[in-house]
Amino acid sequence: MQQVKLINQISLWKERKMIKEKINLLNTYRQSFADRKRLEEGKTYVPLPFKNYLFTYLALIYRLKPVMEGVCNEKDLPKIKKALKESKEIYNLQYKISSEKFLINSPKDESDVVYSDDPREGIFSYSLSYEKKKVIKSEKYFLEKSKKTDKAHFFSRKFALLMGYPECCVDFGDTLSGNLDSERMKRENFIWSKAHIRSFMNSRKISPLLKSPFINLQDHTPCHLNCLQSKKYVERFLKIIEKEEKNLLKVIRYFFDCYSLIWYYSEFILFKGEKKKEVLFYEDFLPISYSSEKFSGDLSKNFKEKFKKSVVLIGKGNRIKMEEKYFVVYKNNKIIGKVKKDYPFECALF
Ligand SMILES: [Zn+2]
Repeated sequence: MQQVKLINQISLWKERKMIKEKINLLNTYRQSFADRKRLEEGKTYVPLPFKNYLFTYLALIYRLKPVMEGVCNEKDLPKIKKALKESKEIYNLQYKISSEKFLINSPKDESDVVYSDDPREGIFSYSLSYEKKKVIKSEKYFLEKSKKTDKAHFFSRKFALLMGYPECCVDFGDTLSGNLDSERMKRENFIWSKAHIRSFMNSRKISPLLKSPFINLQDHTPCHLNCLQSKKYVERFLKIIEKEEKNLLKVIRYFFDCYSLIWYYSEFILFKGEKKKEVLFYEDFLPISYSSEKFSGDLSKNFKEKFKKSVVLIGKGNRIKMEEKYFVVYKNNKIIGKVKKDYPFECALF
């Protein structure tokens, strides 16, 4: 679960702010796990530097996941070290911090790996598990899969299996890797939100447990949005949340009920409403963007402009109809605008 950035858009939907309130609530809960008093109540304490990995950390503590792999900016490394030591002291979790670091240099999901004493600012990875040998393997596979070598793909698969991802989804993951240079391959293959759309395109049925690009309780990309193994994982995870924080469960379920209009990249719009066939009647919506933080280099200005304009249009309406080449925005029964879909997988609504 990443920290989200909300797009600051003029107050067009001031009166409609239910989703935003729920996001604030979610963030409050995320922080609340970093209260050590929870230990006295027999609950799990999650050190604050891991708040973006809250779900993964909990899954690890409850042995639903065998190992967790995280990344942090170089400047945050001292805090992470402290949190890793705390995890060892409280839960006896073993850990390892990468001996090399990543220079993120492109949005293609590739990075240069350099020695940790390189003067350039980089990103460190770390692994956590109850088993020492798993933290060592995890670190090794993670580094190797991030390097631009022929073996990257081989290690990517080993990494996914070590993380405990279902085999069907590991196989699916194989089809997502191997980014080539052509625009078509780039569009088809990389970055997470696109992977989510690929899952969607593979789906005959969609489970609310897996459909949201916003609230992913599992770390992996499901092979399709009704994958049995992935659903089992999420159901087991929800039992953990119920035990740890009943009210957080309610918030999670709220997001399971939301619809999303997923943009080509990492932008999407969350909706609260009701969908009947290709028409969504919405009472609230919220645009969400990850791209400005992660992949900004590759998002064209036109694309961003188009996204913003669409948000403004959606703010004026209350109904969306998906057509093959457009999505159409209505205010009650009246069409107030159309947005062209440049690619069939752009603007999927589910
Ligand atoms: Zn699967």
